Amino acid sequence: MAPTPKECDYLVIGGGSGGLASARRASGMYGAKVIAIEANRLGGTCVNVGCVPKKITWAAADISQTIKHSAKAYGFHVEETAPFDWRSFKEKRDAYIRRLNGIYEKNLHNDKVEYLHGFASFADPHTVKVTLDDKSEVDIKAKQILVAVGGHPNFPSVEGAELGITSDGFFEIDKQPKKVAVVGAGYIAVEMAGMFHALGTETHLFIRHDTFLRTFDPMIQEKVTAEYERQGIILHKQSSQSKLEDIGNGWKRLHYKDQSGEGTLEVDCCLWAIGRSPEIEKLNLDVTKVALNEKGHIKADEYQNTNIDHIFALGDVCDRGFELTPVAIAAGRRLADRLFGGQPDAHLDYSNIPSVVFAHPEVGSIGMTEPEARKAFGDENIKIYNSSFTAMYYAMMEPEEKGPTSYKLICANKEEKVVGMHIMGIGSSEILQGFGVAIKMGATKADFDRCVAIHPTSAEELVTMR
Ligand code: FAD
Ligand code: NDP
Repeated sequence: MAPTPKECDYLVIGGGSGGLASARRASGMYGAKVIAIEANRLGGTCVNVGCVPKKITWAAADISQTIKHSAKAYGFHVEETAPFDWRSFKEKRDAYIRRLNGIYEKNLHNDKVEYLHGFASFADPHTVKVTLDDKSEVDIKAKQILVAVGGHPNFPSVEGAELGITSDGFFEIDKQPKKVAVVGAGYIAVEMAGMFHALGTETHLFIRHDTFLRTFDPMIQEKVTAEYERQGIILHKQSSQSKLEDIGNGWKRLHYKDQSGEGTLEVDCCLWAIGRSPEIEKLNLDVTKVALNEKGHIKADEYQNTNIDHIFALGDVCDRGFELTPVAIAAGRRLADRLFGGQPDAHLDYSNIPSVVFAHPEVGSIGMTEPEARKAFGDENIKIYNSSFTAMYYAMMEPEEKGPTSYKLICANKEEKVVGMHIMGIGSSEILQGFGVAIKMGATKADFDRCVAIHPTSAEELVTMR
């Protein structure tokens, strides 16, 4: 006889940013009977192969830049080529992540969420089968089900692509590559190319067009692309790849075409960073009749409703335009508020979500790009404020070591409501959060100007733009 299925009010598939946030709120705050299932490590992409290890590596890269470019200018007698021990750095970073995994498990326990480590797939629309670590199976019947399974990085259809790595593999590297090819033009390619270069690896970045970060404001695309070239990252524009081959001793040969014609490049690491896809292949979603969009993401509205009444989806498995941890967390909490907290209208407002690219230098962006604003309001109703300057941090440095800072405000209509803000330069990630609050509240240019500047900072430029 088949074992009796477990039952719960809320079954959460995926113990990443969004799933954990929703499960904990539903159980810890509202007392729902919740079961959460995770197939790999708790915390999901962000904690294990995303934001957290990335930001730690970014900090190492930043320190490396400070040693190389700034320390001497400020009078320190340091070796500009201070060796970086990638292996011990990685071990320490891994240990930190393992600690976080443990904290996440403890938090689930504290909030009385039942946690099963195993792989979930739908048996029928109300029943999920979980294959546990010991290969035994358990069925769970749930009144409501949240699909928060995230995504995975894509490999291109290039011969030998499997010889390269993706962002997941970046965090497994235990020896510093000498020469790397990074292929892609989004957040991950730009962040990882920036980190490799700052840490001293010869870095080639292959992009399909003339700039990268092409979903960002043109100012950001042009200035950051130019800055990467100025720093010595070798950009292969208008490029495509036809083959990656193994040439022994851990080295590979990449066959490519770029604006200068056909070529090959020998590297000890090739990293594909060309986008991500939802993790739904083995979920057996077909039995639920949950609708997908043309790119295979689960279709969900801003309430995280799918087309099936009791099944919800959020985070990277959906395509709401923002694959970001705080978006998944906020959507998960609002959903729990709505389903179990008596707040029938709770949902995430997907407008004006700030985001940052941890490039060198950092990029921050919120709201519309200039082309989007011109299209939405008409040229005559848009006013643009620009400022490019040298941050005081560079005062002691030689001209060739000074990095650029560029800010842009996009204002709409007579009242000059700020509908877009795009910044690039030291500290942009920290600067953006507070301005994000103001813009979300509907701040106008006059509101910005009424705030007294903090001097001497870079951010003061944002409240004194003419
Ligand atoms: P995930 O966090 O991916 O969680 C999904 C979980 O579901 C995973 O743990 C997976 O193992 C599990 N799962 C999948 N299928 C099953 C199944 N069938 N059964 C059981 N479990 C399953 N965002 C930021 O905001 N800031 C950043 O700086 C940032 N940096 C990033 C850097 C990198 C390299 C990457 C790849 C992403 C980064 N992101 C960043 C994006 C961020 O990590 C994601 O948007 C976020 O993790 C999405 O959360 P999620 O809950 O949708 O999915
Ligand atoms: P993105 O979707 O950001 O960028 C991928 C880009 O790669 C495309 O836009 C495209 O740019 C280019 N590309 C696509 N296919 C190819 C190809 N075959 N060859 C060369 N280039 C190609 O994906 P990422 O993988 O960078 O990141 C996924 C998501 O993770 C991001 O969108 C972001 O939401 C999240 N993330 C957030 C971070 C943060 O908040 N700091 C950091 C890292 C990730 P083009 O059309 O110009 O060629």
